[in-house]
Amino acid sequence: MRTAVYPGTFDPITNGHLDIIFRGMKLFDHVIVAVLVNREKDTMFTVGERMEMIAKATRDVPPGRIEITSFGGLLVNYVRESGADAILRGIRAISDFEYEFQMALMNRKLLKQVDTVFMMPDERYSYLSSKLVREVASFGGDVSVFVPDFVEKCLKTKCEGRPHV
Ligand code: ADP
Repeated sequence: MRTAVYPGTFDPITNGHLDIIFRGMKLFDHVIVAVLVNREKDTMFTVGERMEMIAKATRDVPPGRIEITSFGGLLVNYVRESGADAILRGIRAISDFEYEFQMALMNRKLLKQVDTVFMMPDERYSYLSSKLVREVASFGGDVSVFVPDFVEKCLKTKCEGRPHV
């Protein structure tokens, strides 16, 4: 069984993240979506809320194909513990490349048997980020094409009384 860990902040999950999850599922039998807890203080949603949203967005996935967890500290430690074969990441634009390239090589240095697999989302999502979605939502903009309906509602609830992200 081939397993990949898809790590990220997912604050909140977007259709771009979901695109990568579904593409990853074509290559891997088991995809572990791992929510990073390191930057908890900077996030709009708590780890629990982010995990719940990912679970809801992937509820139609057959049992056993996907797992939603959280982790703190070094990603490679989590990957080693989980016994995964690869790290899954999304690449949107050239701007993602340098950071992802450094991370992938550093992670391979730290855990040499694990490679990072990069996937490109549908071009509709190539400029989409959680940060942009939070910003647009905080000013009352329409984010319905970028996130699942229920995430849009969660954003509205969070943004009430919050003028800025
Ligand atoms: P962000 O806050 O930028 O959305 P995350 O930490 O949640 O980023 O992202 C986790 C992973 O998902 C990263 O590999 C990131 O490049 C990727 N990703 C995020 N948004 C998209 C998107 N719209 N299309 C493809 N990959 C994405």
